Amino acid sequence: MTGTVKKAKIPAMTNAYHSARFMKSAPDPAQAPPDSGREAAFAGRSNAGKSSAINAIAGQRALARTSKTPGRTQLLNFFQVGEDLRLVDLPGYGYAQVPAEVKARWQHSLARYLETRQSLQGVILLMDVRHPLTEFDRHMLGWCRAAELPAHVLLTKADKLKRGPASATLHRVRRELAELHPHATVQLFSSLKHTGLEEARRVLDRWLGLEAQVPRTS
Ligand code: GDP
Repeated sequence: MTGTVKKAKIPAMTNAYHSARFMKSAPDPAQAPPDSGREAAFAGRSNAGKSSAINAIAGQRALARTSKTPGRTQLLNFFQVGEDLRLVDLPGYGYAQVPAEVKARWQHSLARYLETRQSLQGVILLMDVRHPLTEFDRHMLGWCRAAELPAHVLLTKADKLKRGPASATLHRVRRELAELHPHATVQLFSSLKHTGLEEARRVLDRWLGLEAQVPRTS
């Protein structure tokens, strides 16, 4: 019918992540849930603000705390968002503090997960805005690039910098990213002030196929 506006089933403002629930932890990709549907992963050096960001995005106080429970700090922690949709927390080691052998095994498993996981749509990479693009971050971007996975960087704790320096960091990281991963995007983020929350959710919505359909006429 001419002039019909097809409305989205899920309005743009709905936070689908509010319903996120811990599913399971997996020490290696072989023990992950079935590789169907879609998932988006979160990675970051420890203390980058990853748990706080996952909680803020989900609008829940303690969702990602499960990832820090001893025994659950494994390679992959899965959270169910909807039918066959998942968020995946990739607990980052402090990197320097772990034995080289553990680090090498972890890197190998992580790279394998990124390369082989068919349902994985992209990686949200968290970096403290005051210390972006660490060795860990560069490795992650390299693996994402090799696996042809989109990466979206959250420059976390943006409330710790004034607007000028925060914006300068955003531009510097954007320039450097262009070299490291041609399809990476970046934004400022603060779990404390909720800066950039909607922007981050929109990226996830797109990867998970949750975005509202644009009204169209036919
Ligand atoms: P994770 O190790 O990457 O999961 O990091 P956490 O989410 O546990 O955060 C590490 C530390 O940074 C904690 O002390 C948080 O309170 C703090 N933090 C996290 N996000 C923010 C933020 O947006 N603003 C500020 N000021 N502090 C934050």
